[in-house]
Amino acid sequence: MNVYDAIVIGAGVIGTSTAFHLAQLGARNVLVLDRKTIGEGTTSQSSGILRTHYSVQENVELAQRSWSTFNNFAAYLEDEDASSGLVKCGYMIWAAEGDKLEPLRQSLLAQEAQGIALQYLDPVQAKALLPIAQFDDTALICFEPEAGFADAYLVATSFARAARRRGVTIKEGVSVEKVIIENGRVVGVDTSAGRFLSDTVVSTQNIWTPELEQWTGLKLPVRPERHTVIALEGPQAYSYNMPVFKDLASKGMLYGRSYGGNQMLVSEGVAGETLSSPDTEQGDVSLDDVVEIGAQVAERFPSFETAGLATSWTGVYDVTPDWNPVLGALPGVEGLIAGFGFSGHGFKLSPAVGRILAQAALKLPTDVSLKPYALERFTTGQLLVGKYGSGAVS
Ligand SMILES: Cc1cc2nc3c(=O)[nH]c(=O)nc-3n(C[C@H](O)[C@H](O)[C@H](O)COP(=O)(O)OP(=O)(O)OC[C@H]3O[C@@H](n4cnc5c(N)ncnc54)[C@H](O)[C@@H]3O)c2cc1C
Repeated sequence: MNVYDAIVIGAGVIGTSTAFHLAQLGARNVLVLDRKTIGEGTTSQSSGILRTHYSVQENVELAQRSWSTFNNFAAYLEDEDASSGLVKCGYMIWAAEGDKLEPLRQSLLAQEAQGIALQYLDPVQAKALLPIAQFDDTALICFEPEAGFADAYLVATSFARAARRRGVTIKEGVSVEKVIIENGRVVGVDTSAGRFLSDTVVSTQNIWTPELEQWTGLKLPVRPERHTVIALEGPQAYSYNMPVFKDLASKGMLYGRSYGGNQMLVSEGVAGETLSSPDTEQGDVSLDDVVEIGAQVAERFPSFETAGLATSWTGVYDVTPDWNPVLGALPGVEGLIAGFGFSGHGFKLSPAVGRILAQAALKLPTDVSLKPYALERFTTGQLLVGKYGSGAVS
């Protein structure tokens, strides 16, 4: 009775997407286990930004495939009530003279070669789209119209609902305590609710992936890193029709977007605070951090000099050494698939990643090659290093 075609550990946006795609691709009897509730992990902390801009070309294709799902979400899930909360406001990225300029130029050329529609803007055109900003120092500005932001929690719960409609069982409040491995292959999991058997287990445990390391003895390089997100309310509204921004000219390589159609959600795109253990509890948001981010915002958005802090929170990234995920079968354990290490950019990839993890689990050809994302890259040295440095865009 407790035998399944596949078991997914974790019901974040990656696990629920994987479960949905497993069912869509024909798996009849899929079990998802989460020790908390659907989307309660790091998914609920996401800024939700969707773009195909990446300096690592492999990521562009995953983001492009995912964007077409976000853009067509209810139809894709065959659920007219499903919503991703998509706000299609576009994405504007810029750099000043300096070390980010050439990487930006190269990344944009590569993106265009991959078929992404881009518009190069001068400062006047940029100001027309984002009138609250000033662009005096910019050397290159680009706008990606097919981009924006969405709600990661809503996406996870929509994937979960669509998966359930296809017969997937999702058990919340169940902690996986061990993956059972016999003769080099997976046979099931031991949990707080007993043993469940399957010859296919997909781990989407995010910052809790070190548990998998303990169960398997494999070295899985991922560390939890806490980041601060703040929302500012200025005298001028950051409205929903203004694009998401990425400011490579600012010290913290800020990113931001409209929050609630009025405020600005903003955070730095640099390395955060490494935690000693995986924990999504809210950390302290120091006044120094707020002042530091606020000063950079005021340089770019002059009227925000007098902005007030509306709210703030912390969220935790699952960071790998090259700030890119590990996807696919893990070596030496037949039937064990993993997707972790999204390093702060997993939401925008979640539809395509869920599908390729499901394909890998079912031993089907994958939409894109999993080779670049293999765990083995950390021993062979073929890392997926982004052009902008750690923590920025990847
Ligand atoms: C502050 C912040 C801002 C971000 N902004 C963006 C953004 O703008 N755009 C973007 O693309 N991405 C962004 N991200 C990243 C994105 O949100 C994540 O990559 C994505 O949500 C991760 O989903 P997940 O399913 O891997 O992890 P999670 O949502 O953390 O899910 C993992 C689940 O596994 C469960 N679990 C773990 N171990 C066990 C076990 N042993 N037994 C049972 N259950 C277990 C946990 O309870 C959890 O629910 C951001 C992240 C943060 C923190």
